[in-house]
Amino acid sequence: MSRNVTDQNFIPFALPDISNAEIEQVLECLKSGWLTTGPKAAVFETRFAEVVGARHAIAVNSCTAAMHLGLEAMGIGAGRQVVTSVFTFTASAEVIRYLNADPYFIDIDHDTMNMNPSHLEHALEKSSRVDAVIPVHFAGHACEMADILDICSQKSVRVLEDAAHAFPTTYRGHMVGSIGDATAFSFYATKTLAVGEGGMLTTDDDALAERCRIMRLHGISRDVFNRYQSEQPAWFYEVVAPGFKYNLPEIAAAIGLAQLDRRDELARRRQAIAMRYNEALGILPLVLPTPRSAGDQHAWHLYVIRLDPEHAPIGRDDFIAGMSERGIGTSVHFIPLHRQPYWRDRYELSPEQFPVAERTFQHCVSLPIYSAMSDDDISRVIDAAIALLG
Ligand SMILES: *Cc1c(COP(=O)(O)O)cnc(C)c1O
Repeated sequence: MSRNVTDQNFIPFALPDISNAEIEQVLECLKSGWLTTGPKAAVFETRFAEVVGARHAIAVNSCTAAMHLGLEAMGIGAGRQVVTSVFTFTASAEVIRYLNADPYFIDIDHDTMNMNPSHLEHALEKSSRVDAVIPVHFAGHACEMADILDICSQKSVRVLEDAAHAFPTTYRGHMVGSIGDATAFSFYATKTLAVGEGGMLTTDDDALAERCRIMRLHGISRDVFNRYQSEQPAWFYEVVAPGFKYNLPEIAAAIGLAQLDRRDELARRRQAIAMRYNEALGILPLVLPTPRSAGDQHAWHLYVIRLDPEHAPIGRDDFIAGMSERGIGTSVHFIPLHRQPYWRDRYELSPEQFPVAERTFQHCVSLPIYSAMSDDDISRVIDAAIALLG
């Protein structure tokens, strides 16, 4: 795979995996003259729905857009609350504010770094304003969905999954995308299926899908592609709501089609990298990612280690600096939202309210993991980590 970074020896933290198949798809799209959402986007939706086992897949230009549409279609509005994990990217919470509702942040489970279902249960007991929950499948490891669905169904609370990290991920044999009321995926440049900017909302709920399709494109009752196919005159359309401009460009859909075809190859490579890290790093003073239960698939969007503060010779920040000196990019997922000024100040959040997320943040580092990594790259990451921590 080509590597467009200036320093040939630098191992970046993440890199897309673009083969000739993606390039061919994009050329085909450009030559066709159809640049906005069109026939390739329609096929991408159909195939994606088949792969995850959902009735509907709605292509949009980001996961953030997918979550916004999903919550809007669920009727989330001013004065209501949506529960989400404090250990996530700001997008999972900002979409709640788009609708003038308030996030109800909860702490994570120590092992999986996913939403802790007992905190969810507690939140639903404490507040009667909660209409929905956004579980975030951290790193590509599915949340405890049986518990979450059980708790939510008792209180008629809707479940919108943030699956930005979770393609392809399974939970007890079911693909993420076919589990909650709706699921939002990201095809951002660093994600496991990368088109640059893009996303998908999947659901089995016909009414929810219909509302999202309308709101995705200006609140128009039929999208442009259908307009040219239906019986009515091509110029006719109706605006039924003040919608958004969230449709997926056709070039992005073209890349997505090729990436979707390659999903098993890409997932196997990430899995193999994770296994090599697991085998080599277990001797170091750190906590490795929690294994999936037998038979279930982890998408390995991220490989997150946590340094053991009692035994590691250096702290997290020095480890990151040391890796960088050795030509290796790393990252931190996540700076929890209780540390971000907007969320901290608006909701008076403090680290004491989220002890597990806070402690995880202090010691976590994400190592490079992407399908375009060579075996040599993996060895270099391992050797550097051993040099710093061994
Ligand atoms: C990347 C990410 C998003 C946002 O995805 P976009 O497609 O960039 O909108 C949302 N949630 C999480 C957890 C993410 O990592």
